[in-house]
Amino acid sequence: MIRDAALTWQLLREARASSHRPLAWFQRRHEAVLRRLLRHAYDRVPLYRRLYDEAGFRPDAFRSLADLEGIPPLSKARLKSARPDEVVARGTDRATCTVEHTSGSTGVPLEIVLDRFDRCWNRAVAWRILFEHGFRWTDRTLEIRMKAGQSYAIQKLGIAPKDWRSILDPPTRWVDTLVARRHQCVVAGAGTLELLAAASAAAPIRPPRLVVSDSETLTPAARARIHRALGTPPIDVYGLEEVSNFAWECERREGLHVSADSHIVEVGAPRGEVGPVTVTALGMWTMPFIRYQTGDLAAVAPHDCACGRSLPLLSAVHGRAVDSIELPGGRRLLWPFFHQILAAESSIERWQVHQRSPTEILVRVVPLTSDVGTTDRIRSVMQAKLPRDVRVVVEPTAVIAPESNGKRRLVIPFIR
Ligand SMILES: [Zn+2]
Repeated sequence: MIRDAALTWQLLREARASSHRPLAWFQRRHEAVLRRLLRHAYDRVPLYRRLYDEAGFRPDAFRSLADLEGIPPLSKARLKSARPDEVVARGTDRATCTVEHTSGSTGVPLEIVLDRFDRCWNRAVAWRILFEHGFRWTDRTLEIRMKAGQSYAIQKLGIAPKDWRSILDPPTRWVDTLVARRHQCVVAGAGTLELLAAASAAAPIRPPRLVVSDSETLTPAARARIHRALGTPPIDVYGLEEVSNFAWECERREGLHVSADSHIVEVGAPRGEVGPVTVTALGMWTMPFIRYQTGDLAAVAPHDCACGRSLPLLSAVHGRAVDSIELPGGRRLLWPFFHQILAAESSIERWQVHQRSPTEILVRVVPLTSDVGTTDRIRSVMQAKLPRDVRVVVEPTAVIAPESNGKRRLVIPFIR
């Protein structure tokens, strides 16, 4: 335990020190680590040996970052269809490893195998984001999830103590806990934070120093509601259960900085435009993730952040590519399209868009008041922005339930 804590602390220190390094430092690091990682994956992980052999790729073909796109990407489907022993480095002693399971938001849950180093690296990568925002080791955290995470002996000694609550509990229970325990840090998905905010009206909450929103899309309206109710503006954090969190807002909230010391993040589009996100985890050796296609969409910011950190900046993460609607002509609608229209309606609390057929869009809204004009107004504004052959239906509903993994989707496309 002491050894793990020492390694995590060292990795955390290195990560924090990197935030202001020159770009050339990241470039050298990416090239050096990736060369080793590719050789390791090709020699010891059967999945990568097969993937690279099929594509005729050899690890020594990668000499500099200019060769990055020549490395065959790994799709989720390919990873999920592999046998468990094919994705883990040969010679791994599973008895000393931790096995984590993803929530399976895109179907089958995935088993993630981490040895001691990978485990500490994952922890350091997540902690780093909190420390960029002034987290202190004595801060008490409230984390609300589907399942409680691990508790560590060290937390009982008062180091980063954490209370876990279930998203299945009534939100008033989270509020009671927050009032009683006066947490300095609150971590949950954006939808959960919204429910916490709605349930906390008039409760004597001491504003936490940090409110971290992850897992789901944090819309501007949700951000404002959470800020108002908890007294603290939330920090949007992006990552994958497979490779930890790797992009986060700084105090300026002008976009999401990429943890470039620990991950290589590629956006498959020109700067400023939306494209698919591919990620490489530089500290996962037992079960490597190299050019992993996340299925998410993001855009690289057209400017640098004024905070002075040299880490690259994403202007926005638009969530999963599958969480967008394709119209018959090929036009794609991402959540901001709907948000722009629906956020103008102060009388709705939340919404979800479901494409029921290629030409029918159902908008489900939870109204705050019984304003009968709301649904008609939304329908006509949205209809005016869409082709005439696409039909918009607006339906008031009392509640929009989360999916079985606890996440709430804003946009659900029609699947043929
Ligand atoms: Zn910044």
